Amino acid sequence: MERTEHIFIVRCGEVALKGMNKPYFERMLVERIKKLLRKFDGVSVKRHEGLIFVRADINLDKQAIIKEISKVFGVASISPAVECESTMEAIGQAAVEYMMEAIEERGVKTFKVEAKRADKTFPVKSPDIGRQIGAAVLKGCKVLKVDVHNPDCLLFVDVRRDKSYIYQDKIHGFGGLPLGTNGKGLTLLSGGIDSPVATWMMAKRGMLIEAIHFHSYPYTSQRAQEKVEDLAGIVATYCGRFKMHVINLLPIQEQIVSNCPEEETTILVRRFMMRIAEQVARDTGCTMLITGENLGQVASQTAEALVVTDSAVSMPVMRPLIAMDKVDIMDKAQEIGTYETSIQPYEDCCTVFLPKHPVTKPRLERILESESKLDCEGLIKAAIESQEIINIFPQ
Ligand code: ATP
Ligand code: MG
Repeated sequence: MERTEHIFIVRCGEVALKGMNKPYFERMLVERIKKLLRKFDGVSVKRHEGLIFVRADINLDKQAIIKEISKVFGVASISPAVECESTMEAIGQAAVEYMMEAIEERGVKTFKVEAKRADKTFPVKSPDIGRQIGAAVLKGCKVLKVDVHNPDCLLFVDVRRDKSYIYQDKIHGFGGLPLGTNGKGLTLLSGGIDSPVATWMMAKRGMLIEAIHFHSYPYTSQRAQEKVEDLAGIVATYCGRFKMHVINLLPIQEQIVSNCPEEETTILVRRFMMRIAEQVARDTGCTMLITGENLGQVASQTAEALVVTDSAVSMPVMRPLIAMDKVDIMDKAQEIGTYETSIQPYEDCCTVFLPKHPVTKPRLERILESESKLDCEGLIKAAIESQEIINIFPQ
C-alpha cells in the first residue's frame, strides 16, 4: 500500500500524570507542537485516545519534523509509525510491509513483536496478537528470524479502536512540561556556559522566559553582545520568541570602583544586577529571577557570597544549576546546542574591573556600609531608564 503521509505518535511525559489538569496540559502541548511545525506546509496535530498524532505530507522531511517535535517540552517520546485498520489481517499485512522496508533499509535480520491492545473489546488478547503477527511476518519475510532476547528490530503493535499502529523507534524527547504552564521568569543571561543552560532548565519545567543582559560598553564590545544574542536565539528555539532587556552597567561599576573597597567590587556589582533584574521583572510580570549560579564555582558563588547576593532582593531566585558539577553543565550545554557559542572568547561585564583578590566570605554589614556610600536607588533608576529591549527570535 502506497503511503501518503508520515505519521508520528507523540507521547506526553509528566503531562500524563497531571490528573484533573491533564486536558489543559495536553492542549498546551498540542499548541506548542503546532507552533513549532508551522514552518511546514501540510502538517496536522491532533489529540486522540491519550496520544498526540502528528500527520505530515509524505514529501516533507521526516527527520526535520522529528527534530522540531523533540524540542517541545512535555514530549516524552516520538515514534514514526504506520497506520492500518484494526483487523488481524490488516495488521499482519502492514507488519510485513513495514519489516520489508526495515530489511531493505537497515539489513534487519531478527525481530520480536511487542503487542498491546488499548481497545479491550478487540477479540484477540495481547500475547496472541504478538504470536499471530510474528507468524505473519515470518511467513511474509522469509529472511527474518525471531530473537526474543536481542532482536535487531523490536516491532511494536498498538491496537486501538479506530486504527492500529506499527512502529519501531521510540525517540526520546526532553520531557518536562509544556511552555506556559508555570509562570514567567526573568533570566539573567550572560555569554557564559551556565546561564543559557539554567534558562533552558526552567523553560523545560513550563516557565515562560524573559531575559536581561548587562554589558559595560565600551569596555565590552558590540561583538560580545552579539554573542549573547546568538545564545539567546538558540535558547529561543526551545522556549519561543522572548524579549531581552539590555542594560549598560558601566556607570554603576565606575561608581563602585571609585567609592568602595576593591575586593568587594564583584559582589557589589552582582547585588546591583539582582536589584535591577528584580525591578525589570516586576515591570514585566515575571515572578522569579533565574541565574546560572553554581555553588563554589567562583569567588562570587561561595555559600557566603550567594547569601549576600540573595539578600539584595526579595523575589525568589531560581538557581537550577546550584548543585551540578561543571562537566555535567557542559554536557547539557552540548546537548542543547549552546556550548560552541558560549565558549567563544568575548569579554563579559563581570570581567571588567575584576578585583585581584575578591572577598570570598563577604559580610553583609560591610557590604551594606559600602553601598551606603552610593546613590543606589538613583543608579538603578538611571540604568533601567537607559535599557534597550531586543526581540529574540528562534535561530
Ligand atoms: P555564566 O557561565 O552563566 O556566565 P559564570 O559561571 O560565568 O556564569 P558569573 O559570571 O559569576 O558566573 O555569573 C553568575 C550568574 O550571574 C550567571 O549565570 C548569570 O545568570 C548572571 N550574570 C553574570 N554576568 C551577567 C551578565 N553580563 N548579564 C546578565 N547576567 C549575568
Ligand atoms: Mg559569566
